[in-house]
Amino acid sequence: MAVPRHSHTRSKVGKTRMHKHIKRVLLNVCPKCKKPILSHTVCKNCGYYKGAQIIDVLSDLTKKEKKIKEKEFKQAEQEASQDRPLTMEELSKKS
Ligand SMILES: [Zn+2]
Repeated sequence: MAVPRHSHTRSKVGKTRMHKHIKRVLLNVCPKCKKPILSHTVCKNCGYYKGAQIIDVLSDLTKKEKKIKEKEFKQAEQEASQDRPLTMEELSKKS
């Protein structure tokens, strides 16, 4: 029987999940495109795993879709380079 959302306590939800053995899915962030991915799996957005390209994501796309995707990748790389902390060499050059 359906139960109103507000009368479903956290404890009741937890008990139901325990019975069904449902676990919360933990997601990691893809280091290349910054999208949420499952751990130990190839990123479906960019096709990379452990720094190497496994799947060619752009091969099945149309010309227009490829352009959009490549633009997206460039933007993600730029953001990644900006967020990256400075290495010791770069720090010594700056000062
Ligand atoms: Zn990715």
